[in-house]
Amino acid sequence: MTLLLDGRAASRSLREKLEVDRKTPPHVVFVLVGNHPSSLSYISIKKKSCEEVFIQSSICHLPEDVSEIQLLETIKRWNARGDVDGILVQLPLPPHICQKRIFEAIDPKKDVDCLHPYNLGRLSLGDTSGLLPCTPLGIFELMRFYQLDLMQKEVCIIGRSSIVGRPLSLLLSQKSTIDATVTLCHQGTKDLFFHTKRADILVAAIGRPEFIKQEHIKEGAIVIDVGITRQNDRLIGDVDFLSVQQKASAITPVPGGVGPMTVYALLQNTIKAHKQRKATV
Ligand code: NAD
Repeated sequence: MTLLLDGRAASRSLREKLEVDRKTPPHVVFVLVGNHPSSLSYISIKKKSCEEVFIQSSICHLPEDVSEIQLLETIKRWNARGDVDGILVQLPLPPHICQKRIFEAIDPKKDVDCLHPYNLGRLSLGDTSGLLPCTPLGIFELMRFYQLDLMQKEVCIIGRSSIVGRPLSLLLSQKSTIDATVTLCHQGTKDLFFHTKRADILVAAIGRPEFIKQEHIKEGAIVIDVGITRQNDRLIGDVDFLSVQQKASAITPVPGGVGPMTVYALLQNTIKAHKQRKATV
């Protein structure tokens, strides 16, 4: 029997254990530029999830044509606010804005999406005590929730983005997490099958609908599908779920797998940032 790694159920259960200070709740600000339909939908999901666990949230909605300087000034103001624990800039940003400059403008202590080089640098140095990137953290928490046998496995991650693939490779290869041997594949990988077929845990973060087929995976592998592509109002993952589930020992669905766990990780980070701010006041 293949185990379905249900991110909705896991996040619901894990949220109940979150310790939120209800007298002076954590406060996160979502900075949204423009009216990208998926961004509007993600922000509304994140805001609702915050409300459910008594985290305060605000939306700072800026027009599509906001200048980079205006956006930087806005972030500076939120950085200076003593009542704000977290700042999340919803991606993607319009092309006239340099993402890197925006990431670097966020106060690392408030960087609940873990985009700032300081936080990513800490992770790459083996320190997992700070704010961690939401999707990688969500994937780790999901696998832990289902108490899978994870230690020292061969992990293959496809996709090297700075929000998913690359930081996930850093997180899972830490001794303090699952001490995995990680292979990071990408568009330049010559023989993808060679790597995917050896993997005990295969993570697809590519953005190509149903790219991963049964032939890619090893019998009994754990398959984590990060991909989300919207096609005719349907959300489709990177994994051909129906065929791959016949061979996998555990698999995430899309939707309802990694997505809800990414939101859960954001809640976790916001609470952590709040605790750390209070400890320094
Ligand atoms: P991206 O879009 O920035 O990059 C895609 C990566 O896939 C690149 O590193 C590229 O080298 C690799 N790739 C593309 N085609 C390939 C191929 N044929 N073989 C091997 N590698 C290939 O990546 P991203 O921002 O991490 O997004 C990936 C997917 O994950 C998207 O569908 C995105 O919507 C989704 N996503 C989901 C969540 C979530 O919470 N579920 C969070 C972030 C991103």
